[in-house]
Amino acid sequence: MKKDQIFEFFHRLAEANPDPQTELEYGNDYQLLVAVVLSAQSTDVGVNKATRALFREVKTPAQMIALGEDGLKQHIKTIGLFNAKAKNVIALSEILEREHGGQVPADRDALTALPGVGRKTANVVLNGAHGAETFAVDTHIFRVCNRTGLARGKTPLAVEKGLEKNVPGPFRVGAHHWLILHGRYICKARTPECWRCPVVDLCGYKAKVMERGAKSAKKKDMGPDAQA
Ligand code: SF4
Repeated sequence: MKKDQIFEFFHRLAEANPDPQTELEYGNDYQLLVAVVLSAQSTDVGVNKATRALFREVKTPAQMIALGEDGLKQHIKTIGLFNAKAKNVIALSEILEREHGGQVPADRDALTALPGVGRKTANVVLNGAHGAETFAVDTHIFRVCNRTGLARGKTPLAVEKGLEKNVPGPFRVGAHHWLILHGRYICKARTPECWRCPVVDLCGYKAKVMERGAKSAKKKDMGPDAQA
């Protein structure tokens, strides 16, 4: 995709949704970090259901440590991999308390040193908590970027590097949200809804679905861990 097309692509997504937000519910930076860790291989809806009561009780790492691993498990037992996630959340809370004064660091290396926090999670937190120009490439962003030609790559890191290079200034903080929402609701894995897509004329995907009910996308174009 050419530079002016990329600008137009984001301009249209931004016009439709000027203030894009994550669908995860949280009240402060620490709760955002916990919610993102819990959301690995789980849906935002499922995480929100579990964290509503948890976040009324727990707003800081110290309060999480006081709740303890067993107490946390009671809150999050409906979320996949909850045993491992509970262990990680308690361990990362202890590190935040011990090494960062109970605050969420604004530094990727410090974040990825926390248990359960990989590059994608760190990018979401840097963007959501600190307004950093980071691009957390999940399954939706990977698919949208490869289909459209916005930033093609064989791995999430390659796509992230492409986005770092290609996304124009005014859209760099919001890009990650716009792309996730676009992938989740329009450029879906199994059947992209090209017939109602606001960027259809800019998109380089060859197998566009231009009629509701028409043939679905090819499996190889869905991206890793494809979700409908
Ligand atoms: S035209 Fe289709 S494939 Fe391209 S971005 Fe829109 S929904 Fe996705």
